[in-house]
Amino acid sequence: MILEWAMTTYLKRTYARVLQLTDFGELSPPAPRAGKDYLLYVHIPFCEELCPYCSFNRVPFERDLASRYFEALRQEIRMYRDLGYSFSAVYVGGGTPTVMPAEMAVLLDELRRDFPVKEISLETNPNHLRDDIVGILRDGGVNRLSVGVQSFEDELLRKMARYHKYGSGAEIKSRLERYMGAFDTLNVDMIFNFPSQTEEMLKRDLAVIKSINADQVTFYPLMVSSATRRELARIFGPISYRQEKLLYKVILDGLETDYTPGTAWCFSRKKSMIDEYIVDHDEYVGVGSGSFGYVEGTVLSDTFSIPEYIRSVSEGKLPLKGRKRFSERDRIQYDFVMKLFSTSLDVSRAEEKFGGRFLKSLRKEVSFFSMVGGLVKDGGTFRLTRKGLYLWVIMMREFFTGVNNFRDVSRAVVGSRDFSHG
Ligand code: SF4
Repeated sequence: MILEWAMTTYLKRTYARVLQLTDFGELSPPAPRAGKDYLLYVHIPFCEELCPYCSFNRVPFERDLASRYFEALRQEIRMYRDLGYSFSAVYVGGGTPTVMPAEMAVLLDELRRDFPVKEISLETNPNHLRDDIVGILRDGGVNRLSVGVQSFEDELLRKMARYHKYGSGAEIKSRLERYMGAFDTLNVDMIFNFPSQTEEMLKRDLAVIKSINADQVTFYPLMVSSATRRELARIFGPISYRQEKLLYKVILDGLETDYTPGTAWCFSRKKSMIDEYIVDHDEYVGVGSGSFGYVEGTVLSDTFSIPEYIRSVSEGKLPLKGRKRFSERDRIQYDFVMKLFSTSLDVSRAEEKFGGRFLKSLRKEVSFFSMVGGLVKDGGTFRLTRKGLYLWVIMMREFFTGVNNFRDVSRAVVGSRDFSHG
């Protein structure tokens, strides 16, 4: 318990520093490397109704604004094409990417026309599991559909304000059953460690996942940004990490026989695509308001203001508004955390990438995680142990909480300046 608490405290401070953007204003991305295919992250920030616990970059859906946004998005992607970027994989996240299916169809067609796209992963909500939308996504080349479920427990769905939008746990289950097999991978996104969630509730959720033969399930730990903490505590009760380890063990035990972890929190029934685009692809370009990219050791962020985003793109300028150049040590640490999140790390590939300086820079981290029994060396590969899997849940929980805090701050700055949909 002390180890987990100390790690959480240390990581909060570290990520707050690392995720601090340093350059602002009109920025341009680094030139793409010749012959390299990147991953493209596309952000759709609209939701039909906002959930109280959510820290993602999202706003209430408005049809006119969203139409203009999709047009700007296509234009921004063309700008990267004209700079020489090529994309072999696409991840569409939100918000709710399926909020305007016809616009999404045009976007997917253009992507496949302009780039050698092999994989498309896209997020949606249970109410959009309908024949017309699923048909559009399949025709658009989506291989992996990720459905935000969070829990099948009606009591929790009510507290999350999702019951009236997406139906009861039983209704969501039958929608998932209907479309299981419609994509290479149908992933079910769940959350664990809600304050009133018990072990029994989680066991029932696991039983549903197994009964529908879900291709893949992602169990996110509850991640609370500073801005949502009070609202969450009001709805669910005090937030604490005390139960998290125990609940994670319930998940590992429950999935052990039928699923393998592709990351510390994503479990696949067969060889499915990985859930976290940043794990499989070292470098990615982000498009859309509030998106992030990581190219050539540089983090880039698009403006959080949707009007500013649309304006900037219509004037022919990339809407980049923040940048941070990582030092080599930051890059090495970033790779260490991200690669091991997928449970193993190929040391010789990492040494090649960093000119033989990888392990030398990570002496402290490697001995710490080996000493506490989180990491083992197996030939030229580091592997997470069962204990290490949970330590990486903490690492990534704090990383994404840091990103969410950064989003909150950025939104607040933007909001005070320019957040009217003018
Ligand atoms: S949880 Fe999903 S549906 Fe709810 S507000 Fe956040 S992005 Fe939108």
